[in-house]
Amino acid sequence: MRKKADVVIIGGGIVGTAVARELARFKLDITLVEQHPDLSMGTTKANSAILHAGFDAAVGTLKAKLNVRGNELYRAWQEELGLDIKLIGSLVVATDEEGLLVLEQLHERGRQNGVPGLVLLSREAVLEREPHLTPATLGALFAPTGGIMDPFGVTLAFAENAVRNGVEVLTECKVEQVEVSDDEVVGVHTSQGFIEARYIINAAGVHADDISRSANDHSFAIHPRKGEYMLLDKSVGNFVRSVIFPTPSKVSKGIVIAPTVHHNTFVGPNALAIDDKEDLSTTAEGLAAIVAGAKSLVPGVPLNAAITQFAGLRAVADGDDFVIRPATGVRGLIHAAGIQSPGLTAAPAIAEMVVDILRSEGLSLHAKIDFCPENPARALFRDQEAPEKQKLIAENPLYGRVICRCEMVTEGDILDAIHRPCGARTLDGVKRRTRAGMGRCQGGFCGPRVTSILSRELKIPIPAVRKDTAGSFLFFDKIRGTHEVKDHE
Ligand SMILES: Cc1cc2nc3c(=O)[nH]c(=O)nc-3n(C[C@H](O)[C@H](O)[C@H](O)COP(=O)(O)OP(=O)(O)OC[C@H]3O[C@@H](n4cnc5c(N)ncnc54)[C@H](O)[C@@H]3O)c2cc1C
Repeated sequence: MRKKADVVIIGGGIVGTAVARELARFKLDITLVEQHPDLSMGTTKANSAILHAGFDAAVGTLKAKLNVRGNELYRAWQEELGLDIKLIGSLVVATDEEGLLVLEQLHERGRQNGVPGLVLLSREAVLEREPHLTPATLGALFAPTGGIMDPFGVTLAFAENAVRNGVEVLTECKVEQVEVSDDEVVGVHTSQGFIEARYIINAAGVHADDISRSANDHSFAIHPRKGEYMLLDKSVGNFVRSVIFPTPSKVSKGIVIAPTVHHNTFVGPNALAIDDKEDLSTTAEGLAAIVAGAKSLVPGVPLNAAITQFAGLRAVADGDDFVIRPATGVRGLIHAAGIQSPGLTAAPAIAEMVVDILRSEGLSLHAKIDFCPENPARALFRDQEAPEKQKLIAENPLYGRVICRCEMVTEGDILDAIHRPCGARTLDGVKRRTRAGMGRCQGGFCGPRVTSILSRELKIPIPAVRKDTAGSFLFFDKIRGTHEVKDHE
Protein backbone atom coordinates (compact mmCIF):
# COMPACT_ATOMS: atom_id res chain seq x y z
CA MET A 1 0.00 0.00 0.00
CA ARG A 2 1.15 3.53 -0.76
CA LYS A 3 -1.37 6.14 0.26
CA LYS A 4 -1.65 9.86 0.64
CA ALA A 5 -3.56 11.83 3.27
CA ASP A 6 -3.67 15.43 4.49
CA VAL A 7 -3.49 14.29 8.10
CA VAL A 8 -2.50 10.96 9.61
CA ILE A 9 -3.59 10.34 13.21
CA ILE A 10 -1.53 7.73 15.06
CA GLY A 11 -3.58 5.93 17.73
CA GLY A 12 -7.18 4.82 18.00
CA GLY A 13 -7.74 5.62 21.66
CA ILE A 14 -10.09 8.28 22.96
CA VAL A 15 -7.69 11.07 21.94
CA GLY A 16 -7.03 9.87 18.37
CA THR A 17 -10.70 9.23 17.70
CA ALA A 18 -11.81 12.55 19.21
CA VAL A 19 -9.27 14.32 17.00
CA ALA A 20 -10.52 12.35 13.96
CA ARG A 21 -14.10 13.40 14.66
CA GLU A 22 -13.14 17.04 15.16
CA LEU A 23 -11.10 17.11 11.94
CA ALA A 24 -13.94 15.39 10.05
CA ARG A 25 -15.74 18.74 10.18
CA PHE A 26 -13.32 20.00 7.50
CA LYS A 27 -12.65 19.18 3.86
CA LEU A 28 -9.60 17.03 4.51
CA ASP A 29 -8.35 13.59 3.66
CA ILE A 30 -7.79 12.00 7.07
CA THR A 31 -6.46 8.55 7.96
CA LEU A 32 -6.39 7.18 11.50
CA VAL A 33 -4.05 4.25 12.06
CA GLU A 34 -4.23 1.85 14.98
CA GLN A 35 -1.81 -1.01 15.59
CA HIS A 36 -4.39 -3.34 17.17
CA PRO A 37 -7.30 -5.13 15.46
CA ASP A 38 -9.74 -2.79 17.23
CA LEU A 39 -9.98 0.74 18.60
CA SER A 40 -9.85 1.58 22.31
CA MET A 41 -7.40 -1.17 23.21
CA GLY A 42 -4.76 0.96 24.92
CA THR A 43 -5.23 2.99 28.11
CA THR A 44 -8.70 3.94 26.95
CA LYS A 45 -9.97 0.43 27.69
CA ALA A 46 -8.65 0.24 31.26
CA ASN A 47 -9.37 3.24 33.43
CA SER A 48 -11.89 4.45 36.00
CA ALA A 49 -14.35 5.61 33.30
CA ILE A 50 -15.06 8.76 35.26
CA LEU A 51 -16.20 12.01 33.71
CA HIS A 52 -14.16 14.23 35.99
CA ALA A 53 -15.60 17.57 37.03
CA GLY A 54 -12.20 19.33 36.99
CA PHE A 55 -11.38 20.40 40.57
CA ASP A 56 -8.38 18.13 40.92
CA ALA A 57 -5.72 19.44 38.49
CA ALA A 58 -3.56 22.43 39.43
CA VAL A 59 -4.86 25.81 38.29
CA GLY A 60 -3.39 26.94 34.96
CA THR A 61 -2.39 23.47 33.74
CA LEU A 62 -3.63 21.99 30.48
CA LYS A 63 -5.09 19.17 32.54
CA ALA A 64 -7.30 21.61 34.46
CA LYS A 65 -8.39 23.70 31.49
CA LEU A 66 -9.09 20.78 29.15
CA ASN A 67 -10.82 18.73 31.83
CA VAL A 68 -13.44 21.41 32.45
CA ARG A 69 -13.93 22.11 28.73
CA GLY A 70 -13.98 18.36 27.90
CA ASN A 71 -16.66 17.74 30.54
CA GLU A 72 -18.74 20.56 29.02
CA LEU A 73 -18.32 19.17 25.48
CA TYR A 74 -19.30 15.63 26.47
CA ARG A 75 -22.49 16.98 28.03
CA ALA A 76 -23.18 19.03 24.88
CA TRP A 77 -22.53 16.08 22.52
CA GLN A 78 -24.13 13.36 24.61
CA GLU A 79 -27.34 13.34 22.64
CA GLU A 80 -26.08 13.84 19.09
CA LEU A 81 -23.48 11.10 19.38
CA GLY A 82 -25.55 8.82 21.62
CA LEU A 83 -22.85 8.78 24.33
CA ASP A 84 -23.41 6.58 27.36
CA ILE A 85 -22.76 9.08 30.14
CA LYS A 86 -24.45 9.28 33.54
CA LEU A 87 -24.09 12.46 35.57
CA ILE A 88 -24.30 10.76 38.96
CA GLY A 89 -22.09 13.35 40.68
CA SER A 90 -18.79 12.82 42.48
CA LEU A 91 -17.83 13.11 46.13
CA VAL A 92 -14.41 13.60 47.68
CA VAL A 93 -14.78 12.30 51.21
CA ALA A 94 -12.77 13.57 54.18
CA THR A 95 -12.29 11.28 57.15
CA ASP A 96 -10.04 13.51 59.28
CA GLU A 97 -9.45 17.19 60.02
CA GLU A 98 -6.59 17.39 57.51
CA GLY A 99 -8.93 15.97 54.88
CA LEU A 100 -11.46 18.71 55.59
CA LEU A 101 -8.76 21.30 54.80
CA VAL A 102 -8.01 19.47 51.53
CA LEU A 103 -11.71 19.68 50.63
CA GLU A 104 -11.60 23.45 51.05
CA GLN A 105 -8.50 23.66 48.86
CA LEU A 106 -10.15 21.51 46.18
CA HIS A 107 -13.30 23.64 46.38
CA GLU A 108 -11.26 26.79 45.80
CA ARG A 109 -9.19 25.12 43.06
CA GLY A 110 -12.37 23.95 41.38
CA ARG A 111 -13.78 27.48 41.54
CA GLN A 112 -10.63 28.84 39.88
CA ASN A 113 -10.72 26.07 37.24
CA GLY A 114 -14.31 27.06 36.42
CA VAL A 115 -16.07 23.91 37.68
CA PRO A 116 -19.80 24.61 38.04
CA GLY A 117 -21.95 23.78 41.07
CA LEU A 118 -19.34 22.56 43.59
CA VAL A 119 -20.61 22.36 47.17
CA LEU A 120 -19.17 21.28 50.49
CA LEU A 121 -21.46 18.80 52.24
CA SER A 122 -21.75 18.25 56.00
CA ARG A 123 -21.23 14.81 57.52
CA GLU A 124 -25.02 14.33 57.81
CA ALA A 125 -25.69 15.38 54.21
CA VAL A 126 -23.04 13.11 52.77
CA LEU A 127 -24.06 10.09 54.89
CA GLU A 128 -27.66 10.61 53.87
CA ARG A 129 -26.58 10.45 50.24
CA GLU A 130 -24.17 7.54 50.71
CA PRO A 131 -25.17 5.53 53.83
CA HIS A 132 -22.43 2.89 53.37
CA LEU A 133 -19.58 5.37 53.83
CA THR A 134 -17.33 4.91 56.84
CA PRO A 135 -18.70 6.37 60.10
CA ALA A 136 -15.41 8.31 60.20
CA THR A 137 -16.76 10.54 57.41
CA LEU A 138 -16.55 14.20 58.36
CA GLY A 139 -17.72 15.89 55.15
CA ALA A 140 -17.35 15.85 51.37
CA LEU A 141 -16.96 17.98 48.29
CA PHE A 142 -19.81 17.33 45.87
CA ALA A 143 -19.45 17.95 42.12
CA PRO A 144 -22.72 17.67 40.16
CA THR A 145 -20.88 17.57 36.81
CA GLY A 146 -18.91 14.49 37.87
CA GLY A 147 -20.15 11.32 36.25
CA ILE A 148 -19.40 8.01 34.65
CA MET A 149 -19.19 6.88 31.04
CA ASP A 150 -18.54 3.93 28.79
CA PRO A 151 -14.99 4.56 27.48
CA PHE A 152 -15.23 2.03 24.59
CA GLY A 153 -18.66 3.24 23.62
CA VAL A 154 -17.57 6.85 23.59
CA THR A 155 -14.43 6.08 21.57
CA LEU A 156 -16.44 4.05 19.08
CA ALA A 157 -19.04 6.82 18.84
CA PHE A 158 -16.32 9.34 17.91
CA ALA A 159 -14.78 6.90 15.44
CA GLU A 160 -18.07 5.92 13.88
CA ASN A 161 -19.04 9.54 13.39
CA ALA A 162 -15.63 10.32 11.92
CA VAL A 163 -16.00 7.41 9.47
CA ARG A 164 -19.53 8.51 8.53
CA ASN A 165 -17.98 11.87 7.71
CA GLY A 166 -15.25 10.43 5.48
CA VAL A 167 -12.33 9.56 7.79
CA GLU A 168 -10.53 6.32 6.97
CA VAL A 169 -9.67 4.04 9.90
CA LEU A 170 -6.96 1.43 9.37
CA THR A 171 -6.65 -1.17 12.12
CA GLU A 172 -3.71 -3.59 12.43
CA CYS A 173 -1.66 -0.78 10.97
CA LYS A 174 1.37 -0.09 13.16
CA VAL A 175 3.45 3.02 12.59
CA GLU A 176 7.08 1.97 12.50
CA GLN A 177 8.61 5.35 11.80
CA VAL A 178 7.75 8.94 11.06
CA GLU A 179 9.64 9.96 7.92
CA VAL A 180 11.21 13.42 8.08
CA SER A 181 12.90 15.36 5.31
CA ASP A 182 14.44 18.85 5.75
CA ASP A 183 12.97 19.02 9.27
CA GLU A 184 9.47 18.49 7.95
CA VAL A 185 7.36 15.32 8.13
CA VAL A 186 6.60 13.66 4.82
CA GLY A 187 4.67 10.61 6.03
CA VAL A 188 4.67 7.46 8.10
CA HIS A 189 6.05 3.99 7.44
CA THR A 190 3.49 1.48 8.68
CA SER A 191 3.09 -2.27 8.76
CA GLN A 192 0.75 -1.77 5.77
CA GLY A 193 3.12 0.45 3.78
CA PHE A 194 3.91 4.17 3.46
CA ILE A 195 1.32 6.89 3.98
CA GLU A 196 2.40 10.27 2.67
CA ALA A 197 1.19 13.21 4.79
CA ARG A 198 2.33 16.71 5.73
CA TYR A 199 0.61 16.63 9.12
CA ILE A 200 0.80 13.84 11.66
CA ILE A 201 -0.93 13.71 15.02
CA ASN A 202 0.87 11.67 17.62
CA ALA A 203 -1.85 10.21 19.88
CA ALA A 204 -0.01 6.95 20.53
CA GLY A 205 -0.60 6.81 24.32
CA VAL A 206 2.26 5.18 26.25
CA HIS A 207 4.16 4.86 22.95
CA ALA A 208 3.95 8.56 22.04
CA ASP A 209 7.60 9.10 23.00
CA ASP A 210 8.68 6.22 20.72
CA ILE A 211 6.81 7.87 17.83
CA SER A 212 8.37 11.23 18.68
CA ARG A 213 11.88 9.76 18.85
CA SER A 214 11.38 8.10 15.45
CA ALA A 215 11.07 11.65 14.07
CA ASN A 216 14.23 12.76 15.93
CA ASP A 217 12.29 14.68 18.56
CA HIS A 218 13.59 13.64 21.99
CA SER A 219 11.86 16.44 23.87
CA PHE A 220 9.80 14.25 26.23
CA ALA A 221 9.64 10.74 27.64
CA ILE A 222 6.68 8.70 28.84
CA HIS A 223 6.90 6.88 32.17
CA PRO A 224 4.07 4.37 32.57
CA ARG A 225 2.23 4.38 35.88
CA LYS A 226 0.10 1.31 36.46
CA GLY A 227 -3.33 1.27 38.11
CA GLU A 228 -5.07 -1.98 39.10
CA TYR A 229 -8.79 -2.59 39.56
CA MET A 230 -11.38 -5.06 40.79
CA LEU A 231 -14.78 -5.19 39.15
CA LEU A 232 -17.78 -6.29 41.19
CA ASP A 233 -20.84 -8.07 39.89
CA LYS A 234 -24.13 -6.29 39.25
CA SER A 235 -25.66 -8.14 42.22
CA VAL A 236 -23.97 -5.51 44.40
CA GLY A 237 -26.61 -3.06 43.14
CA ASN A 238 -26.56 0.57 44.21
CA PHE A 239 -24.09 0.05 47.05
CA VAL A 240 -22.75 3.48 46.17
CA ARG A 241 -24.68 5.94 44.00
CA SER A 242 -21.95 8.48 43.26
CA VAL A 243 -18.29 8.38 42.29
CA ILE A 244 -16.51 8.28 45.65
CA PHE A 245 -12.95 9.54 46.02
CA PRO A 246 -10.79 9.78 49.12
CA THR A 247 -8.83 12.99 49.54
CA PRO A 248 -6.13 12.85 46.79
CA SER A 249 -2.39 12.21 47.06
CA LYS A 250 0.38 13.84 44.99
CA VAL A 251 0.42 11.03 42.37
CA SER A 252 -3.15 9.83 42.25
CA LYS A 253 -6.74 10.62 43.02
CA GLY A 254 -6.69 7.59 45.33
CA ILE A 255 -8.74 4.39 45.49
CA VAL A 256 -12.15 5.16 44.06
CA ILE A 257 -15.42 3.29 44.47
CA ALA A 258 -17.98 3.94 41.79
CA PRO A 259 -20.77 2.37 39.82
CA THR A 260 -20.24 1.76 36.11
CA VAL A 261 -22.73 2.74 33.43
CA HIS A 262 -23.50 -0.98 33.10
CA HIS A 263 -24.52 -1.30 36.78
CA ASN A 264 -21.36 -2.99 38.06
CA THR A 265 -19.23 -1.42 40.80
CA PHE A 266 -15.47 -1.05 40.63
CA VAL A 267 -12.76 -0.36 43.16
CA GLY A 268 -9.28 0.94 42.30
CA PRO A 269 -6.85 2.08 41.06
CA ASN A 270 -3.50 2.12 42.84
CA ALA A 271 -0.56 3.97 41.26
CA LEU A 272 2.71 2.14 40.60
CA ALA A 273 5.62 3.47 38.50
CA ILE A 274 6.79 0.72 36.12
CA ASP A 275 9.19 0.39 33.17
CA ASP A 276 7.42 -2.06 30.87
CA LYS A 277 4.84 -0.39 28.63
CA GLU A 278 3.07 -3.70 28.07
CA ASP A 279 2.80 -4.79 31.71
CA LEU A 280 -0.91 -5.06 32.45
CA SER A 281 -0.56 -7.69 35.15
CA THR A 282 -2.47 -7.52 38.39
CA THR A 283 -0.64 -8.51 41.54
CA ALA A 284 -1.65 -9.79 44.96
CA GLU A 285 0.04 -6.76 46.59
CA GLY A 286 -1.69 -4.33 44.25
CA LEU A 287 -5.09 -5.84 44.87
CA ALA A 288 -4.47 -5.88 48.63
CA ALA A 289 -3.74 -2.15 48.49
CA ILE A 290 -6.97 -1.57 46.58
CA VAL A 291 -8.98 -3.61 49.06
CA ALA A 292 -7.50 -1.67 51.99
CA GLY A 293 -8.22 1.65 50.26
CA ALA A 294 -11.78 0.68 49.40
CA LYS A 295 -12.52 -0.56 52.91
CA SER A 296 -11.22 2.58 54.52
CA LEU A 297 -13.93 4.55 52.67
CA VAL A 298 -16.73 2.00 52.43
CA PRO A 299 -16.02 -0.70 55.06
CA GLY A 300 -18.78 -3.09 53.94
CA VAL A 301 -17.94 -3.06 50.23
CA PRO A 302 -18.92 -6.60 49.11
CA LEU A 303 -15.58 -7.67 47.64
CA ASN A 304 -16.77 -11.30 47.49
CA ALA A 305 -18.74 -10.17 44.41
CA ALA A 306 -15.52 -9.49 42.46
CA ILE A 307 -15.79 -11.00 38.96
CA THR A 308 -12.58 -9.81 37.35
CA GLN A 309 -9.44 -7.73 37.77
CA PHE A 310 -7.58 -5.59 35.28
CA ALA A 311 -4.91 -2.91 35.02
CA GLY A 312 -4.29 0.20 32.92
CA LEU A 313 -1.19 2.32 32.31
CA ARG A 314 -1.17 6.08 32.74
CA ALA A 315 1.09 7.76 30.16
CA VAL A 316 2.94 10.13 32.46
CA ALA A 317 5.20 12.68 30.70
CA ASP A 318 8.05 14.66 32.26
CA GLY A 319 6.54 17.69 33.94
CA ASP A 320 3.33 15.79 34.72
CA ASP A 321 1.06 17.87 32.45
CA PHE A 322 -0.35 16.92 29.03
CA VAL A 323 2.09 17.51 26.14
CA ILE A 324 -0.07 19.03 23.40
CA ARG A 325 2.07 21.04 21.03
CA PRO A 326 4.01 20.92 17.76
CA ALA A 327 7.08 18.69 17.87
CA THR A 328 10.45 20.19 18.67
CA GLY A 329 12.52 20.73 15.54
CA VAL A 330 10.11 18.97 13.14
CA ARG A 331 7.35 20.74 11.24
CA GLY A 332 4.06 18.95 10.74
CA LEU A 333 4.21 16.60 13.74
CA ILE A 334 1.79 17.51 16.53
CA HIS A 335 1.95 15.72 19.88
CA ALA A 336 -1.12 14.83 21.93
CA ALA A 337 1.03 12.97 24.44
CA GLY A 338 1.37 12.41 28.16
CA ILE A 339 -2.39 12.11 28.26
CA GLN A 340 -2.78 10.65 31.72
CA SER A 341 -5.90 11.18 33.82
CA PRO A 342 -8.18 13.11 33.19
CA GLY A 343 -7.47 12.37 29.52
CA LEU A 344 -10.69 10.49 28.92
CA THR A 345 -12.68 13.51 30.08
CA ALA A 346 -10.40 16.03 28.39
CA ALA A 347 -10.31 14.26 24.99
CA PRO A 348 -12.93 16.41 23.18
CA ALA A 349 -11.14 19.56 24.36
CA ILE A 350 -7.74 18.08 23.41
CA ALA A 351 -9.20 17.55 19.94
CA GLU A 352 -10.29 21.20 19.73
CA MET A 353 -6.80 22.27 20.79
CA VAL A 354 -5.13 20.02 18.21
CA VAL A 355 -7.29 21.54 15.46
CA ASP A 356 -6.24 25.05 16.58
CA ILE A 357 -2.58 23.99 16.49
CA LEU A 358 -2.97 22.54 12.99
CA ARG A 359 -4.54 25.81 11.85
CA SER A 360 -1.69 27.85 13.29
CA GLU A 361 0.82 25.44 11.70
CA GLY A 362 -0.58 26.30 8.27
CA LEU A 363 -3.19 23.61 7.51
CA SER A 364 -6.11 25.11 5.57
CA LEU A 365 -9.37 24.24 7.28
CA HIS A 366 -12.51 24.64 5.18
CA ALA A 367 -15.73 23.52 6.86
CA LYS A 368 -17.69 20.73 5.16
CA ILE A 369 -21.26 21.85 4.60
CA ASP A 370 -22.51 18.28 4.67
CA PHE A 371 -20.81 17.37 7.97
CA CYS A 372 -23.29 15.26 9.96
CA PRO A 373 -22.63 15.53 13.73
CA GLU A 374 -25.02 12.73 14.63
CA ASN A 375 -24.77 8.98 14.87
CA PRO A 376 -27.91 6.95 14.21
CA ALA A 377 -29.72 6.09 17.46
CA ARG A 378 -28.81 2.59 18.54
CA ALA A 379 -29.75 0.58 21.63
CA LEU A 380 -29.18 -3.04 22.47
CA PHE A 381 -32.19 -5.34 22.38
CA ARG A 382 -32.26 -5.73 26.18
CA ASP A 383 -32.61 -1.98 26.66
CA GLN A 384 -35.69 -1.63 24.43
CA GLU A 385 -39.32 -1.41 25.56
CA ALA A 386 -41.50 -4.50 24.97
CA PRO A 387 -43.30 -3.25 21.79
CA GLU A 388 -39.97 -2.31 20.22
CA LYS A 389 -38.57 -5.74 21.12
CA GLN A 390 -41.50 -7.42 19.39
CA LYS A 391 -40.98 -5.23 16.32
CA LEU A 392 -37.26 -6.05 16.21
CA ILE A 393 -37.89 -9.79 16.44
CA ALA A 394 -40.57 -9.56 13.75
CA GLU A 395 -38.09 -7.79 11.46
CA ASN A 396 -35.16 -10.04 12.36
CA PRO A 397 -35.71 -13.24 14.38
CA LEU A 398 -32.03 -13.18 15.43
CA TYR A 399 -33.01 -10.53 18.01
CA GLY A 400 -34.97 -13.33 19.65
CA ARG A 401 -31.92 -15.56 20.07
CA VAL A 402 -30.05 -14.85 23.30
CA ILE A 403 -26.34 -15.58 22.97
CA CYS A 404 -25.03 -14.12 26.24
CA ARG A 405 -27.32 -15.10 29.08
CA CYS A 406 -25.65 -13.05 31.82
CA GLU A 407 -25.95 -9.77 29.91
CA MET A 408 -28.95 -10.69 27.71
CA VAL A 409 -27.18 -10.04 24.41
CA THR A 410 -28.90 -11.37 21.30
CA GLU A 411 -27.48 -12.58 18.01
CA GLY A 412 -29.07 -9.54 16.34
CA ASP A 413 -27.05 -7.24 18.65
CA ILE A 414 -23.87 -9.14 17.80
CA LEU A 415 -24.45 -8.87 14.05
CA ASP A 416 -25.01 -5.14 14.44
CA ALA A 417 -21.74 -4.86 16.42
CA ILE A 418 -19.86 -6.67 13.65
CA HIS A 419 -21.35 -4.88 10.67
CA ARG A 420 -21.60 -1.25 11.76
CA PRO A 421 -18.77 1.21 10.88
CA CYS A 422 -15.58 0.28 12.79
CA GLY A 423 -17.26 -3.03 13.60
CA ALA A 424 -15.95 -5.79 15.87
CA ARG A 425 -13.39 -8.22 14.44
CA THR A 426 -12.55 -10.13 17.63
CA LEU A 427 -14.28 -11.80 20.56
CA ASP A 428 -13.36 -8.92 22.87
CA GLY A 429 -14.44 -6.45 20.18
CA VAL A 430 -17.92 -7.96 20.41
CA LYS A 431 -17.66 -7.84 24.19
CA ARG A 432 -16.77 -4.16 24.24
CA ARG A 433 -19.68 -3.28 21.96
CA THR A 434 -22.40 -5.50 23.43
CA ARG A 435 -21.10 -6.76 26.82
CA ALA A 436 -21.41 -10.39 25.66
CA GLY A 437 -18.88 -12.09 27.97
CA MET A 438 -18.70 -9.31 30.56
CA GLY A 439 -21.20 -10.81 32.97
CA ARG A 440 -21.01 -13.17 35.88
CA CYS A 441 -19.73 -16.15 33.84
CA GLN A 442 -17.16 -13.98 31.98
CA GLY A 443 -17.89 -15.59 28.59
CA GLY A 444 -17.92 -19.23 29.74
CA PHE A 445 -21.27 -19.77 28.04
CA CYS A 446 -21.32 -17.32 25.15
CA GLY A 447 -17.62 -17.34 24.16
CA PRO A 448 -17.83 -20.33 21.76
CA ARG A 449 -21.11 -19.03 20.30
CA VAL A 450 -19.73 -15.56 19.62
CA THR A 451 -16.67 -17.22 18.07
CA SER A 452 -18.91 -19.14 15.66
CA ILE A 453 -20.84 -16.00 14.74
CA LEU A 454 -17.60 -14.09 14.07
CA SER A 455 -16.35 -16.96 11.92
CA ARG A 456 -19.57 -17.02 9.93
CA GLU A 457 -19.96 -13.23 9.52
CA LEU A 458 -16.32 -12.45 8.76
CA LYS A 459 -16.10 -15.52 6.53
CA ILE A 460 -13.03 -16.81 8.31
CA PRO A 461 -12.42 -20.29 9.75
CA ILE A 462 -12.91 -20.71 13.50
CA PRO A 463 -9.14 -21.09 14.15
CA ALA A 464 -8.68 -17.65 12.58
CA VAL A 465 -10.96 -15.94 15.15
CA ARG A 466 -8.93 -13.99 17.71
CA LYS A 467 -9.64 -13.06 21.28
CA ASP A 468 -8.33 -9.51 21.04
CA THR A 469 -4.78 -8.79 19.90
CA ALA A 470 -3.06 -9.70 16.64
CA GLY A 471 -1.94 -13.26 17.50
CA SER A 472 -4.54 -14.16 20.11
CA PHE A 473 -6.12 -17.11 18.29
CA LEU A 474 -8.60 -19.04 20.39
CA PHE A 475 -8.30 -22.48 18.80
CA PHE A 476 -5.69 -24.43 16.87
CA ASP A 477 -8.38 -26.41 15.14
CA LYS A 478 -12.09 -26.85 15.33
CA ILE A 479 -13.02 -28.82 18.44
CA ARG A 480 -15.57 -31.59 18.06
CA GLY A 481 -18.84 -30.45 19.61
CA THR A 482 -18.02 -26.73 19.35
CA HIS A 483 -21.35 -24.99 19.38
CA GLU A 484 -22.55 -24.25 15.84
CA VAL A 485 -24.53 -21.10 15.19
CA LYS A 486 -26.30 -21.82 11.95
CA ASP A 487 -26.96 -19.43 9.11
CA HIS A 488 -29.80 -16.98 9.60
CA GLU A 489 -33.08 -18.82 9.95
C1 LIG B 1 -5.56 3.70 36.01
C2 LIG B 1 -6.13 4.79 35.15
C3 LIG B 1 -7.31 5.47 35.52
C4 LIG B 1 -7.80 6.49 34.73
N1 LIG B 1 -9.02 7.03 35.03
C5 LIG B 1 -9.51 8.02 34.26
C6 LIG B 1 -10.79 8.54 34.50
O1 LIG B 1 -11.55 8.03 35.32
N2 LIG B 1 -11.22 9.60 33.78
C7 LIG B 1 -10.44 10.18 32.84
O2 LIG B 1 -10.85 11.20 32.28
N3 LIG B 1 -9.23 9.65 32.52
C8 LIG B 1 -8.77 8.57 33.19
N4 LIG B 1 -7.59 8.00 32.88
C9 LIG B 1 -6.82 8.53 31.76
C10 LIG B 1 -7.37 8.05 30.43
O3 LIG B 1 -7.69 6.68 30.43
C11 LIG B 1 -6.31 8.34 29.37
O4 LIG B 1 -5.92 9.67 29.49
C12 LIG B 1 -6.81 8.11 27.97
O5 LIG B 1 -7.43 6.86 27.84
C13 LIG B 1 -5.63 8.24 27.01
O6 LIG B 1 -6.11 8.03 25.72
P1 LIG B 1 -5.11 8.03 24.50
O7 LIG B 1 -5.96 7.98 23.29
O8 LIG B 1 -4.13 9.15 24.65
O9 LIG B 1 -4.24 6.72 24.69
P2 LIG B 1 -4.60 5.19 24.37
O10 LIG B 1 -5.98 4.84 24.74
O11 LIG B 1 -3.52 4.37 24.96
O12 LIG B 1 -4.52 5.13 22.79
C14 LIG B 1 -3.30 5.15 22.11
C15 LIG B 1 -3.44 4.20 20.94
O13 LIG B 1 -2.31 4.30 20.11
C16 LIG B 1 -2.04 3.02 19.60
N5 LIG B 1 -0.65 3.00 19.17
C17 LIG B 1 0.46 3.11 19.93
N6 LIG B 1 1.56 3.03 19.17
C18 LIG B 1 1.14 2.88 17.90
C19 LIG B 1 1.81 2.72 16.66
N7 LIG B 1 3.14 2.70 16.59
N8 LIG B 1 1.08 2.58 15.53
C20 LIG B 1 -0.28 2.57 15.59
N9 LIG B 1 -0.97 2.70 16.75
C21 LIG B 1 -0.26 2.86 17.88
C22 LIG B 1 -2.32 2.12 20.78
O14 LIG B 1 -2.53 0.78 20.38
C23 LIG B 1 -3.55 2.76 21.39
O15 LIG B 1 -4.76 2.21 20.91
C24 LIG B 1 -7.08 6.91 33.59
C25 LIG B 1 -5.92 6.23 33.21
C26 LIG B 1 -5.48 5.14 33.96
C27 LIG B 1 -4.32 4.36 33.49
